[in-house]
Amino acid sequence: MTTALPTPRRAVWIGGAWRDTPDGYDIDDPATGAVIGRAGAATLDDAADAVRAARAAFDDGVWSGISGRERSRVLLRVAALIRDRAEQFAEAESVDVGKPLTFARMIDVPTAADQFEYFASLAQHLDGAVRETPLPAFAYTRREPHGVVAAISPFNFPLILSSSKLAPALAAGNTVVHKPAPQTPLTAQLLAEVFADAGLPAGAYNLVTGPGPDLGDALIRDPGVDAIAFTGSSAVGRQVARTAGELLKPMAAELGGNGANLLFADADLDAAIGTVINAFVFNTGQFCMAGPRLLVERPVYDTVLGILAGAVGGVPLGDPADEGTVIGPLISAAQRDRVDGVVQDAVAAGGRVVAGGKRIDLDGGYYYAPTVLADLPSDAAAVQEEIFGPVLTVQPFDSEDEAVALANGTAYGLAAGLQTGDISRAHRVAARLRAGIVWVNGWGLLDPAVPFGGVGASGWGRESGPEALTSFTRTKSVTIALAGDAR
Ligand code: NAD
Repeated sequence: MTTALPTPRRAVWIGGAWRDTPDGYDIDDPATGAVIGRAGAATLDDAADAVRAARAAFDDGVWSGISGRERSRVLLRVAALIRDRAEQFAEAESVDVGKPLTFARMIDVPTAADQFEYFASLAQHLDGAVRETPLPAFAYTRREPHGVVAAISPFNFPLILSSSKLAPALAAGNTVVHKPAPQTPLTAQLLAEVFADAGLPAGAYNLVTGPGPDLGDALIRDPGVDAIAFTGSSAVGRQVARTAGELLKPMAAELGGNGANLLFADADLDAAIGTVINAFVFNTGQFCMAGPRLLVERPVYDTVLGILAGAVGGVPLGDPADEGTVIGPLISAAQRDRVDGVVQDAVAAGGRVVAGGKRIDLDGGYYYAPTVLADLPSDAAAVQEEIFGPVLTVQPFDSEDEAVALANGTAYGLAAGLQTGDISRAHRVAARLRAGIVWVNGWGLLDPAVPFGGVGASGWGRESGPEALTSFTRTKSVTIALAGDAR
């Protein structure tokens, strides 16, 4: 157990060592608004040095040139060290994001360790293929790492979404420069220590932090960076994709979401309501794969609204350090104000507040009441746009076709869910939903073995699963002419 509140370092991690930065920027605790310390504000020279260190480590072959089995051993040690320091990681993640400590312990930290264990295993299976051809030749493929990867991650699941990039990128033999979200540098700083202790060669992982967009932009533009792994909003993803396109760098894009949850009248309602609430309050709604759009089959529409009206206000909201807390604060005052603005605009546009609809003043933190909105038209901004707060819009539907049309009726396509007691309907509707991941009779069931990613405005990358390893490699074909008839 650690005793003091976790604090950020005012430093960057380059070439296997901390480098203090002359400037820092404030990191606050979203539960109180209090500043917990200052993180390193990397200069553009720091970013260039980090890329140089990653480039040198890649070109020297200290990581890319060793066997997959040796990389696997290091990644397993990384996982073990994360588990050894689980409490420290959980406390850091909780304070940085305002995430309930219980969830950080139960979900974020073990999932990060799982990612390294899973990709440690796949590191030993970076197999190419032998291709049969009519040529007088032997043809095979090799899967090779891209080189230096710029990994850019968002604030909402800093540890999991860093690990879901770093584990496959490193497993494949790439070296990395990581830029976490400005608000949440703490667990990335712990990861740097863990990588060093696990025996990752200096320069294979580098970490730069800073407050503005310049740092990420400089990284992706650096000629020493070969590939980009980006998770964040669709708006920033578009900018990054423009640059990646201009520079012809491969990019994986994991962007925003606005998931629909389809509740059919034949579902087990008691179980479904729990799923519906969890899908929009988990991580205070700051979950790209959340289910903020509930579509309810008409016969149970009023019943469901009635149950939500009674239940949602009872979900424990408060100090993330309290064991029973389910809903913590939003990441910032600005995000809370944005969420409130969307809700107030929805009300002005005719939306009915079934639950919540207001800020909660508590300890100086950035709290917002879990909110349910009904009677909104499909083109309302609250329905169409990603809100990224604990807000649920509810709409009725009369047929499977209408449910699918409503579900597919936004620009996004990340996660979707359906709650039904009919197994045939489950398969039929799952196939028709425009989403990268579909949950049936549940929500948020994720595992490092199961790929996730989006379509449309949600991007095109796939993280987790063998698909993630594929996206951090490229294929080379080798064809060897054979003398004589060796076929
Ligand atoms: P954001 O887009 O504001 O920032 C994401 C990252 O990009 C941060 O590290 C940020 O500093 C960096 N960045 C900002 N401008 C940049 C630029 N011009 N060039 C390069 N990098 C730049 O996102 P956020 O607010 O941190 O995270 C929330 C968003 O992320 C939501 O939209 C959410 O849906 C999305 N998200 C998606 C997934 C997924 O897997 N699809 C997972 C988590 C979060």
